[in-house]
Amino acid sequence: MPRYVYEACEESKSCPKCRNGFEIDQSLNEPKLDHCPYCRNKVFRVIQAPGLTHSKTDLHYRAKRAGFHTLKKVDNGTFEKLY
Ligand SMILES: [Zn+2]
Repeated sequence: MPRYVYEACEESKSCPKCRNGFEIDQSLNEPKLDHCPYCRNKVFRVIQAPGLTHSKTDLHYRAKRAGFHTLKKVDNGTFEKLY
């Protein structure tokens, strides 16, 4: 299941979850979120294309997840790289 990242459109109205961005696993069939599931304020989806380094949000996000595991074990000996 792909993992998406959302961030608040308006930080001043956001809750702590979406102010700093949150990750959510969604199937391809699910519509993208247009509001935070926690505070109901508007959010936008952060596009996480590999190699896209010009976006301020992307840099911000990469810095934030610098210590995170980027590989998830999906089954025996197979790892899925998460962007
Ligand atoms: Zn929120």
